[in-house]
Amino acid sequence: MLGLMQDQQLLISSLIEFADCHHGDTEIVSRRVEGDIHRTTWREVAARSRQVANALDQEQLGFGDRVATLAWNGYRHLELYYGVSGTGRVLHTVNPRLHPDQIAWITNHAEDEIMCFDLSFLPIVQQIHGECPTVKKWIALCDADKLPADSGIPKLESYEAWISTHSSTYDWPSFDENSASSMCYTSGTTGNPKAALYSHRSTMLHTYASAMPDVMAMSARDSVLPVVPMFHVNAWGIPYSAALVGAKLVFPGPALDGKSVFELIETEKVSFAAGVPTVWQMMLGHMQANGLEFSTLKRTVIGGSACPPAMIDAFQHQYGVEVLHAWGMTELSPLGTLCTLKNKHLTQMPEQQMAIRLKQGRGIFGIEMKIVDPEGKVLPWDGKASGDLLVTGPWVIKNYFKGESDPLVRDAKGRGWFPTGDVATIDADGYLQITDRSKDVIKSGGEWISSIEVENIAVAHPAIAMAACIGVAHPKWDERPVVVVVKQPGAEVSCKELLAFYEGKTARWQIPDDVVFAESIPIGATGKILKARLREQLSDYRLPGL
Ligand code: ADP
Repeated sequence: MLGLMQDQQLLISSLIEFADCHHGDTEIVSRRVEGDIHRTTWREVAARSRQVANALDQEQLGFGDRVATLAWNGYRHLELYYGVSGTGRVLHTVNPRLHPDQIAWITNHAEDEIMCFDLSFLPIVQQIHGECPTVKKWIALCDADKLPADSGIPKLESYEAWISTHSSTYDWPSFDENSASSMCYTSGTTGNPKAALYSHRSTMLHTYASAMPDVMAMSARDSVLPVVPMFHVNAWGIPYSAALVGAKLVFPGPALDGKSVFELIETEKVSFAAGVPTVWQMMLGHMQANGLEFSTLKRTVIGGSACPPAMIDAFQHQYGVEVLHAWGMTELSPLGTLCTLKNKHLTQMPEQQMAIRLKQGRGIFGIEMKIVDPEGKVLPWDGKASGDLLVTGPWVIKNYFKGESDPLVRDAKGRGWFPTGDVATIDADGYLQITDRSKDVIKSGGEWISSIEVENIAVAHPAIAMAACIGVAHPKWDERPVVVVVKQPGAEVSCKELLAFYEGKTARWQIPDDVVFAESIPIGATGKILKARLREQLSDYRLPGL
């Protein structure tokens, strides 16, 4: 017997209509490429996303056709999020930090029909437009009078001119909620990039889940600053969850330096922010150098790579901002776990609480996870056993766009689990701790050493700005850890002093064999350390005494 409730499809267009209807006058504030601060509202964004929808219909794009963006976080990008997906076309957010050859490759692979770009990325478009035959229109996200006259790009139009002739009324279509809504390519640190293709259903379920109290706890009273880019896994879903709850949105545009981000937090009374550790590192550096304090910021989600303990400490204890450490990936839309304390932790000592906050958190309802040994045997949740992490759930990838082979691992019941490539422990309370990417784990004498742990200790040293740990071949132990570090400007520390700093903080055999001082460490397009590149750079390196 079927239930007797309405079977409305879960569609992204319902979010923007809801925000318009219930939170129409709530502000959306953007720092623009032009440098000024632009203010609009959910009502205006909704109206203009309907103009986008009408414009796309006139372009005669088919259902499921791809519209790409090469853009910072801002209101026009938000309008495209709703205008494109709401009509049943697919929003393809391209990461502008990738190499232009890779951007061209991705554009062709996705078969993008329209490309909308911020003027900061004009040089990229000038370089690639001739190699992207599927793109029939290039749209610069600017006013008509800002359109460069002699760009050399055929079929170039300004966004404002493109939408201005269209009506702001539109009847969003209803269709199967499993239809594709947006796509995002992984950074492709190994091989060619691969795309996760999200559906309206997966996005809507992720949106509901991400706003829950023990997840991002977002509400209509929040002023939300997604520093995490809208071109990187949909800014962790915030453009959608902010509409779901009617929060104010504050977009940083291209200005991600510490001073600009801090100023925006203060002037726009931001209560909740989200970003990767490197961005917060810059902002904390600016605050410490200038003796600044927050007056409104209450919570910040930090993820994308492991949040160093010193950062959690600074936010929590120096500035009174709660850190929500989160783990996820492009293939998970991206949220998998988020770290909030349980009641029983609230009476614990600060050190014990810190040990929990360092973990990546508990699974969000909707995500099931397990850790397995190399034979696929499920390992216990005891906080000690560490194994390959597999996940399943309604917003977890089933296959890549144009994927040739099935990436899932089947269990005895035939259920498909996505192998994350991460190595983790899970404790009895369900807290996940990522110890490594499986390809980065250091295997020493049959035991595993977590490169994240080695790096966290190094960056806790006041003279160290950045650290990356890699395994180096060793005749007896197979591999031994070596930590590559970049010093804080003007700071000094010797190899011996840094190694002595590890004493008592980790098991003796997990202390690195050597320290390599470097001017910089290679970082990829999503802010993560490129370990493969680092290994290449150190290919001639030999351990001391060998
Ligand atoms: P890509 O796979 O394209 O590099 P993602 O942003 O999808 O980009 O990266 C996901 C990976 O980032 C995870 O599989 C994990 O290795 C790492 N990661 C994400 N969040 C954390 C975190 N809080 N701590 C440690 N690693 C993390």
